[in-house]
This record gives sequence, structure tokens and C-alpha cells, in this order.
Amino acid sequence: MKLYEYEAKKIFEMEGIPVPKGEKIEDADPDAFNRYEKIVLKSQVLSGGRGKAGGIKFPETVAEFQKNVNELLGSKIKDFEVKSLLVEEKLDIDQELYCGITISRADGKVVVMVSSEGGVDIEQVAKESPGKIISEKIDIRKGLPIHKVIDMARKIGIREKKELEVANILVKLYSIFRKYDAETAEINPLVITKDDRIVAADAKLDIYDEALFRHPEFKREDEFFTELEREARRYGLGYVEMDGNIGVIGNGAGLNIATLDILRFYGGNPANFLEVSGRTYMLAGKALEIVLKNAKVKIVMGNFFGSISRCDVIAQGITNAIKEGKVTVPLIVAMRGNGAEEGRKILKKAGIEVYEDDKVAAKKVIGILGHAEGN
Ligand code: GDP
Ligand code: MN
Repeated sequence: MKLYEYEAKKIFEMEGIPVPKGEKIEDADPDAFNRYEKIVLKSQVLSGGRGKAGGIKFPETVAEFQKNVNELLGSKIKDFEVKSLLVEEKLDIDQELYCGITISRADGKVVVMVSSEGGVDIEQVAKESPGKIISEKIDIRKGLPIHKVIDMARKIGIREKKELEVANILVKLYSIFRKYDAETAEINPLVITKDDRIVAADAKLDIYDEALFRHPEFKREDEFFTELEREARRYGLGYVEMDGNIGVIGNGAGLNIATLDILRFYGGNPANFLEVSGRTYMLAGKALEIVLKNAKVKIVMGNFFGSISRCDVIAQGITNAIKEGKVTVPLIVAMRGNGAEEGRKILKKAGIEVYEDDKVAAKKVIGILGHAEGN
């Protein structure tokens, strides 16, 4: 999970890496502008390359500041909606360095990288002048010894007192990388200012998803879910909203994906993915209700392969939803496997069209939709 720059900078600051004075804002209140001598205004989105994409501004007057804030908030930078901005004291840059720690895909080892060519896209530096990036693989049982990073700093041309300062920042970055179970920890650029300070002007911290349970303070999956997705999650249902008009319910993630594929193959456009399985298979009725809350849904296809989740139990859940008057569009079901024969009987009795073969069911769905649209 990627952290926002302002979140990563808070951590950097706590762990002793110097960051610019700054604050997160969500409106154009001029107080924020007036608190600093010169400012930089940075869109908070989960992507790099914001500078080039127009997401970073240097307003010099309050009027300019307010104009920039109002233009950036709600706009899209690199496909992400800008919901907040970071206001910071603008640094007078003498030199921009690069520092990064990540995991090497080739051998799974931790790699520490530094370069004198910070600020720009580091991948480009790697391609065009790979000699300008100094990298070292780390044995995590031994950690990152200071002499190694001093040596790296020297190799990129850092001298005297600054060697130790850059080396210290790398050691701290490494300890953040370990402490927060990061996949990537990066400072690009690490700025040497004209008045000789070393400051992290940007901060990137990407936490390994499988380790998030150890960092509950960063949980924010909710932000990216639609309202229906949030509701489904409260019932433990795996639901993903899409933009078509055919509702889909299936037991098992694989069967759901196969159902989406079959529907698309016959020219349909699914409205969602919804998995009822394991302990949730008895929730078929609730699942149906959630699928139907999406106003775009014109028809629903249920596709079930009975295993531990028995088809007859699923059928009962669906029938109950029908009895409660919750099913307001046509429903076509395919069922086979454990409890399927019984399940099909239950559904037929409730007036639902049910098949054994899901391809037949999918064709039926497309046929009904085409008919409704007058094709
Ligand atoms: P990114 O484009 O998303 O990586 O955003 P950065 O925070 O790295 O900013 C991009 C570029 O904007 C930097 O490489 C700098 O050249 C410039 N920049 C960012 N902050 C400052 C600042 O405080 N002062 C100056 N002069 N330039 C800055
Ligand atoms: Mn950057």
C-alpha cells in the first residue's frame, strides 16, 4: 500500500530525516500561504511524476495560491483525483540527489541506491547513464553498516561533512524500510539547499500489503470503495462494481471471473463481480439485494457450482429474496454440482429460469437483453 507524500514525510520526520516545514490543506484558506516565506504546493496523489504532470506549483502571491489550489483540488493528476494538497516552504535547491531502497526482483535481496542525478525520473537515469546510480545489495541479517553508505555517498561525489549527513539519511531510510515493512522507501529528490541543508523534498513509502496487519494505523482501504462495495464488505461478500448492466453472482472467485468472460464472449457487459462462498454462501439473498441496488442492472445471471456451498442452500436464499419482493429484474441461473438437482427444483418452483450449462444461461441472458433493447 502506497502512502501519500504527507504521510510518508510524517514518518520520515519522526525517524529523524529532515523534511521541509509544511502542512496538508483541503481548501484555499490564505493562512496556510501566509505562514511561509516562499511556498511549494504539491498535489497529494498516489503517484510520482507529479511535477511533469502539472501537479506541483510555486505560487508567489495569495491570489496565485488560491487560484492554484482551486484548480488542483478535484482535478486529475496522473489519473488520480486530487483531494488534498501539501503546502511547504520552498527550498532553494543547489543539488538534487536520489536515494532509494527496494527489493530486487531478480533475487529478492534488499538494494540500496544513490545517485547524483535526483529530481528526474530515476528509471531514465538507469537507462541512459546507469553509471550514475550506485547500488549495493544488503544482507538483512547484517543490516546497513555506516561505512558502506559513506562509501556510496563518496562515489556519487559527495564530500567532507556532507558524506556523513547523506550516509546518516540512508541509514535512517533503511531503518524505516525495515520498521514499516516497506517494498520501497525513496527520497527523490534529496535536496542540498543553497544554505547547505540536506532535506527530503519528496518522500515515497510503499508498504508490503501482506504486512499491513502489523501496521493497522495505515488501514484505509475504504477510501477506494464505492458505497455498494462497502456495504457488501460488511457482510463479508466479495463485490466489485463495474460499468455494465448484467448483474453477476457466483460462488467462488474463479467461477465469477469465468462468468464475466462468458458474458463478454457473447457480447454482454457485466455490472459487477460478486462472490458468495464459504461461510457466506447462505447470504445469496443478501448478495442479490446488493447486486440489484445498482440501478444500471437490467438482468442478473447467477452461476453456481455446488461444493461445500450447496446449490440447494443458495437456491433457498434466492427464493427467499424473491418472496420478499426484492427481485425486480429477470434472473437467469446456472447450477451444477453438490445439491444442484434439488436447487434447480427449488428455483423452478419459484418461477426462475434455471439451466445446468452456464453457456446456455449466458446466451439466454444476452437474448433477453437484446430483446428488451429492441435488437
Ligand atoms: P514528483 O514529480 O511527483 O516526483 O514530485 P517532487 O516532489 O519530486 O517534485 C518534482 C520536482 O519539483 C523536484 O524534482 C524539484 O525540481 C521541484 N521541487 C519540488 N519541491 C521543490 C522546492 O521546494 N523548491 C524547488 N525549487 N523545487 C522544488
Ligand atoms: Mn519526486
